[in-house]
Amino acid sequence: MRKVLVTARSFGKISDTPFQILKDAGFEVVTHPRRGPLDKEEMIPLIKDVEGVIVGTDVVDDEVLAHGKCLKVVAKHGVGVDNIDLDAARRRNIVVTNTPGANSLAVAEMALCMMLAISRNMVEGDRRVRSGQWGTITGCQLTGKRVGIVGFGAIGRCLARLLKGFDCQITAYDPYINAQVAAELGVQIVSFDELLASSDYISLHVPNTPETRNMFSEEAFAKMKKTAFLINLARGGVVDELALARALEEGEIAGAAVDVFSEEPPSLDHPLFKAPNVIVTPHIGAHSREAMDNMSTMAAQNVVAVLTGTGCASIVQ
Ligand code: NAD
Repeated sequence: MRKVLVTARSFGKISDTPFQILKDAGFEVVTHPRRGPLDKEEMIPLIKDVEGVIVGTDVVDDEVLAHGKCLKVVAKHGVGVDNIDLDAARRRNIVVTNTPGANSLAVAEMALCMMLAISRNMVEGDRRVRSGQWGTITGCQLTGKRVGIVGFGAIGRCLARLLKGFDCQITAYDPYINAQVAAELGVQIVSFDELLASSDYISLHVPNTPETRNMFSEEAFAKMKKTAFLINLARGGVVDELALARALEEGEIAGAAVDVFSEEPPSLDHPLFKAPNVIVTPHIGAHSREAMDNMSTMAAQNVVAVLTGTGCASIVQ
C-alpha cells in the first residue's frame, strides 16, 4: 500500500478529517510514537518507503531527503519552509508544499493580543497578583497609534484588517509587494528606516531568509522610538536576540513580545528572560483550533493532489 508519513505534531489533532482525506485517497498513514519534531535518526528509517511526508518544524535536510527513495512530496504543516532544504528537494525532484493563509488569522490575532498585553502589562500584572503584590501598573493604549508591519503578506494583511478597529495609522515595509495592494487596505508602504523611526509598535511577519536574518540588530533598535514595542511572531533568526535584550535593558525600546526563538526551545539562561518588559510564548502563534484544522486539512489535500496528479495550488517549488 502507498504510504504517507506524518510527523507534524498537531496534524489531525482537532478532527479526524485530515487523516480520513489520506485514507480515502488510498494511503496508509505512518506515524512515530513520539509525535514530532523528530530527530533525523528517528525520521530516516520512517521516510525510506513513503511517497509523501507531512512535517512540522522537523529538520528535512539533504541527508533526510536522500533516504526517501520513493519520496515525491514534502508537505509543510504551516507556512515557513526554512526547516526544509529546498535546493536539495529540487535536485531530487521532490515537490514541497505549504498551507498559505490557513493560519493567518490565528497569527494576526496573536499579534494583536501581544500588542494589547504588552501595552497594559498584563503578564507582569498576573505575576504580581499571584505573588501577593498589589498596586497599579500604568500602561498605554493601542488605539490611534502608529503600527509598522514588516512583511505585508497573508499575516501582515490580516493584522492590518484587525487594526482598523483600533484606528491605527498603519505602515508596512515589504519590497516585494505592489503598493496598490497596501493602499487598498489603507496602509502606506514606507522604507525600513522610516518604519523603524516612526512606529509605536513594530510587528514582524517576514519569512526567515538570508535577507531577513538579524534584520533587527543593534543598529535597527537604535533607530526605534524609546516608547516602541517589538512583536516577533515571524522567526527567531529575524531578530538578534542578544541585541534585543540589550536594547530592552538600556531602555532603547519599551518592550517586546516574542513567540519564536533562534533555538527552540530556548535555554533557561536565554538573555531575553532577564530583560525587562518581555512577554514570551512557545511558538504558538498559529495554534488556534480553527487554524490547526485548516492546516491539517490543507496539508492532507496537498499530499493527495501531488501524489494523484490532480493539481495542487500550494506548491512552494
Ligand atoms: P507570506 O509569504 O504570505 O508573507 C511574507 C511576506 O514577507 C511577503 O509579502 C514577502 O514579500 C515579505 N518579505 C519577504 N522578504 C522580505 C524582506 N526582506 N523584507 C520585508 N518583507 C519581506 O507569509 P505569511 O503567511 O504572512 O507568514 C509570514 C511568516 O510568519 C512565515 O514565513 C513564518 O516564518 C511566520 N509564521 C509564524 C507562525 C507562528 O506560529 N509564530 C505561524 C505562521 C507563520
